[in-house]
Amino acid sequence: MRFDNSYLRDLPGSYLRLAPDLAPAPQVLALNLPLAAELGLDAATVQENAAAWFSGAAVPEGAEPVALAYAGHQFGGFSPQLGDGRAHLLGEILDPQGRRFDLQLKGSGRTPFSRGGDGKAAVGPMLREYLISEAMAALGIPTTRSLAVVATGEPIWRDAARLPGAVLARVAASHIRVGTFQFFSARGDVDKLQALLTYTIARHFPEAARAEVPALALFDAVAAAQARLIAQWMGVGFVHGVMNTDNMALSGETIDYGPCAFMEDYAPGTVFSSIDRQGRYAYANQPLILGWNLARLAETLLPFFDADGERAVDLANERLEAIAGMYQAEWLTVMRAKLGLDGADAGDLALAEEFLRAILGVDWTLAFHRLAGATEDAQDYLTLFEDRSAISDWLPRWRARLHPGSAEAMRRVNPVIIPRNHLVEAALTAATAGDMVPFDALLAAVRAPFGDAVGREGFALPAPKGFGAYITFCGT
Ligand code: AMP
Ligand code: MG
Repeated sequence: MRFDNSYLRDLPGSYLRLAPDLAPAPQVLALNLPLAAELGLDAATVQENAAAWFSGAAVPEGAEPVALAYAGHQFGGFSPQLGDGRAHLLGEILDPQGRRFDLQLKGSGRTPFSRGGDGKAAVGPMLREYLISEAMAALGIPTTRSLAVVATGEPIWRDAARLPGAVLARVAASHIRVGTFQFFSARGDVDKLQALLTYTIARHFPEAARAEVPALALFDAVAAAQARLIAQWMGVGFVHGVMNTDNMALSGETIDYGPCAFMEDYAPGTVFSSIDRQGRYAYANQPLILGWNLARLAETLLPFFDADGERAVDLANERLEAIAGMYQAEWLTVMRAKLGLDGADAGDLALAEEFLRAILGVDWTLAFHRLAGATEDAQDYLTLFEDRSAISDWLPRWRARLHPGSAEAMRRVNPVIIPRNHLVEAALTAATAGDMVPFDALLAAVRAPFGDAVGREGFALPAPKGFGAYITFCGT
């Protein structure tokens, strides 16, 4: 592995240098060899060194571990200093095409940003991030990836329970967050903000450097990427669960898989996280939070929008007002594909919204996946519904809008397999007890989300009714 360390070179003040903890008895639980190959890493070398490198027991040559500083709004309240409390960025890997990726360890020990935390992570939550991020990648949704999960051999404590500890090796387009900009903005450090702006443009949106006002071009590019991302989340029923500004990456990748989960029965107010009592990050609120978080980013960029403060605010407001429309256009693109609608028709938005009303309470994934089979005969499809009146009224209007290739096109975009909550729970419980078999099987299933369910029906069906409401936990 060859490292570059551009944060150290270009962003002084954004990190602290420090080594990860030594894991006493590292043992590889999951190793993503296909991802290693994409990164241009030699499989044999990675296999040989995975336990040591990805647990933090040995720092690979050329890596200069740092914990990154950032701030952030958490559930609406601002913390001027968060930062990597349990993560070490080892450096950046350049893939064979010259693309740059951060390699970060998570759960690798305390840092000066840890506040009360122990700097550690348990096997369950780290495998959860591995599984869900790989599922997202297979679904074609921009995301950080997971290279490995290594059990440390060290017990950690959560709610008076003794759990096996683990470290996740995460690969990301970068770890620059809205909260990274907020960190320098809150300190009034315009020079460091300028350096961060220049760095972010060069790394993610190089064309913005040639714009008349690069900061505005950066903002527009980030807003477009984020609008597209959230529209894709909505398409697969993904609930991130903790869309704090420190968990929003400027690259447009999904980052920080904590209390996230996929919605099963469609309900706009779906919340899984135990700490999200107000439903701030509920399924249907995600597009609103997109706008809220982008407003926080815009605030940090005001000094670069225009030297005249009032003019800068006007420029920001123009953009913020356009976000809802931009998001809706992205969402409609996603929905057109899911519903098999070719081209654009003025009635498409209403058609999509009426479909959502008709599938209230129905399994989101199956309602779309099986729709491809209802282009002519809906007998089978209707078995998904208890109340069939709304969908029966909708189907003929939808059919009138289809074209010959619709069913095929729909099958390519509507997954049959998402990480079902009951299966995720069962796999993580088994893994925590030392049995990786259910995890490996589920991982293989979510890596092939499209097509039909033949031979793997158990992965495609919703939770048995007795599973009950699903609750996820944060800060794990
Ligand atoms: P997250 O909810 O994972 O995005 O984490 C929010 C903040 O809490 C980040 O600054 C994390 O680094 C920090 N954090 C979460 N869990 C721990 C832990 N066990 N020890 C130290 N810091 C933590
Ligand atoms: Mg976070």
